[in-house]
Amino acid sequence: MLLTYLLARGGAEVTLLESRHDFARRFRGDTLAPGVLEYLDTLGRADALLADVPHTRTDAFRWHTATRTWTLVDYRGASARFPFYALLPQAEFLPWLADRARAHGATVHMGARFSALRHDDSGRVSGVAYTVDAAQHEIDAALVVGADGRNSKVRQVSGLAATELGASLDILWHALPRRDDDPSYSGLDLFGTPHGSLALLDQGTDWQLGWTIRAGSLAEVRARGVDALRDAAVGALAWLDGRLDDLGDVSDLTLLPVRITTIERWTRPGLVLLGDAAHVVSPVGGNGINLALADAADLANRLVGPLRRTPPDPRQLDVAAAGLESARRPGVEREQRAQVRTERAAAERI
Ligand SMILES: Cc1cc2nc3c(=O)[nH]c(=O)nc-3n(C[C@H](O)[C@H](O)[C@H](O)COP(=O)(O)OP(=O)(O)OC[C@H]3O[C@@H](n4cnc5c(N)ncnc54)[C@H](O)[C@@H]3O)c2cc1C
Repeated sequence: MLLTYLLARGGAEVTLLESRHDFARRFRGDTLAPGVLEYLDTLGRADALLADVPHTRTDAFRWHTATRTWTLVDYRGASARFPFYALLPQAEFLPWLADRARAHGATVHMGARFSALRHDDSGRVSGVAYTVDAAQHEIDAALVVGADGRNSKVRQVSGLAATELGASLDILWHALPRRDDDPSYSGLDLFGTPHGSLALLDQGTDWQLGWTIRAGSLAEVRARGVDALRDAAVGALAWLDGRLDDLGDVSDLTLLPVRITTIERWTRPGLVLLGDAAHVVSPVGGNGINLALADAADLANRLVGPLRRTPPDPRQLDVAAAGLESARRPGVEREQRAQVRTERAAAERI
């Protein structure tokens, strides 16, 4: 969506196909980093976003044990203007961005599900096929951008091989309505439990609770029952006593099967992947959304010039796409390797 906004703002003709009919979604990457807020500020959009969209702010990521609290990351020095992470729900952020993209002339087509790539005689990707309410449609494109997330259909049909780097954890999420007399925390907190950890994110009207479990161990967790999870949470945070009684079963929680995935290349002629479609990351560090937004910003800078030519030169578009991968891939893979190590160490405690 950010790329759609940036390209439309730069004067390009751009169409976004979104399979869902709305942006209602929960438990996604909602944590906008100081650097991303600074970037939005250079576009003149950060203040408006923070004024328009309800969010919370956290100045540190903290780890708590029964006896001590450690500040793992302090965001106060990260930016003079935005010394915090903004916890800003995607369900609010995406429609906000879509409105601004449309205002610059972008077509945001909701309920339009990508189904296949189309190719020209040279084999270059030249457009896509998509469905709306079971009806087939096609659209030509000078460049197709696959930004369709961790289970990317674009990646699947492009034949680009994906490799799992080995996530060690999964997370079970739950939203707990907040009460006025609840204690306050930094907003991004992790509490040690006897067999893992409990994440506590301040989402304003709700607390977002997350139990880490070993990757692939949902069946075992189910067999142990929801009481074990409840006891672990209350053991870490006594004020939760009585607050989780509505949880009848482990299936009342939302599973995030964590994945850390890399793909052989982010591009083919006429095609580029970005965000989770190119690199699924762990929620460790809360940067899935920030990496995707940084990809979009980088690619937009490279594409706006070439897309102003009529018609755009395919070679210039492919050079721009390759530039994104060269610039962004090393940093993303460094972060993924660090996540693999962090998750392994955490999983040993479970
Ligand atoms: C279920 C789920 C839970 C997550 N939980 C967390 C979390 O707890 N913490 C965290 O840090 N990160 C989480 N993430 C990851 C985080 O949300 C992403 O890293 C971030 O949103 C950036 O992703 P993106 O824009 O590349 O993809 P996404 O945000 O996944 O966006 C992809 C978009 O493409 C659309 N789409 C998919 N298929 C098609 C198709 N065939 N045609 C058209 N449109 C399509 C989707 O509806 C979606 O709107 C989660 C992701 C998912 C999918």
